[in-house]
Amino acid sequence: MKIICIGRNYAEHIKELSSPVPSTPVFFLKPDTSLLIRNRPFYLPDFSKEIHYEVELVIKICKVGKNIQKKYAHTYFDEIGVGLDFTARDLQNISKQQGLPWLIAKGFDNAAPVGKFLPKTHFPILENINFHLVLNGTIVQQANSKDMIFSFDDIISYISHFITLKTGDLIFTGTPSGVGPVKQGDRLEAYIEKERLLKCDIK
Ligand code: MG
Repeated sequence: MKIICIGRNYAEHIKELSSPVPSTPVFFLKPDTSLLIRNRPFYLPDFSKEIHYEVELVIKICKVGKNIQKKYAHTYFDEIGVGLDFTARDLQNISKQQGLPWLIAKGFDNAAPVGKFLPKTHFPILENINFHLVLNGTIVQQANSKDMIFSFDDIISYISHFITLKTGDLIFTGTPSGVGPVKQGDRLEAYIEKERLLKCDIK
């Protein structure tokens, strides 16, 4: 399986990082070794002094697809959950300045914790899903899927033009504003609506 992440998909987050607004989805990959499951703790790596949390809605691909038309895109995912796109912001800033790829800032081991998934049928309207992230008991990120610049269907259609999607692939659909650093001892908890689907302790 592969993990595909969308960058710059919420206007407020684009502003906070002073990034340009994209005209097509910006995406990048994380390797399968970045997956962190079952609420396991995250150990801060020695190569970064600034690991940021980014809470994101994550969709799970349920069949193989290539060149998927937008009107059929909704049939290619069947589950929705939340994940954390852990980012070594210090390394990412260096990469950006040098015009280099982001991989070391985004694709390191355990940089993609994902929580429990819910069936898509659980959600009456996919363009109206509230989600939020709690850091040590305080809400730090909060958004709704309607705020996404590119919808789930836009993203699936666009990516599949370049890369074949396969069953089990995960797509992180971008983070809203409020990203920030983690430190040892922090607890992150991600929710969809009122349901906690992910917990991650920072060690
Ligand atoms: Mg992200």
